[in-house]
Amino acid sequence: MAEITWELLERQVEACTLCGLCRGITHKVPGQGDRQSPLMLIGEGPGAEEDRQGLAFVGPAGQLLTRMLAAIELPRERVYICNTVKCRPPGNRVPEPAERAACLMHLRMQTALLRPKVILLLGSTAAKTVLGEDTYITRVRGQWRQRKDTFILATYHPSALLRDPSKKREAWSDLQLLRDKLIELGCYPDIYGAAR
Ligand code: SF4
Repeated sequence: MAEITWELLERQVEACTLCGLCRGITHKVPGQGDRQSPLMLIGEGPGAEEDRQGLAFVGPAGQLLTRMLAAIELPRERVYICNTVKCRPPGNRVPEPAERAACLMHLRMQTALLRPKVILLLGSTAAKTVLGEDTYITRVRGQWRQRKDTFILATYHPSALLRDPSKKREAWSDLQLLRDKLIELGCYPDIYGAAR
């Protein structure tokens, strides 16, 4: 079996036709960011701007995500960001379960390559896919799960916060949980300090 590498992942995503979402897209959006990061962020799927640029979270929701990370002093370039599906669903609809299932092999490979200490799930689609539960973000947000050595937290997708700013208070509480866990695990000592 070929060794798993980031280059192999990118080639695999680029060539993938496992579900119908690849029809009519401009670019695949595999994900990007710091490949040494202890923190992995997983969203739903690319939107129009992401499809145009081939980059995850570069539209209005991505700009809000950058501000959310800055609020806990995390520069966005220090995290790894990707989506549950790597092709834009038509009209930004929610990816179907079969599409999420088809794309899971890429997400699993990314997780195996990154080996994050902490995963932040953004929204219901990422929560359903990664937690393997048919659930809603309102039920699972703000609660830590642990899989082997990885801690997993779910919160609202930034696009949900753009639609309903009243959710920002809960999202801020989730972000504080995230920051506290990163400190507890000794991640980003140059940002948070070893003994803070
Ligand atoms: S969404 Fe994922 S599984 Fe479907 S074609 Fe694109 S890369 Fe392949």
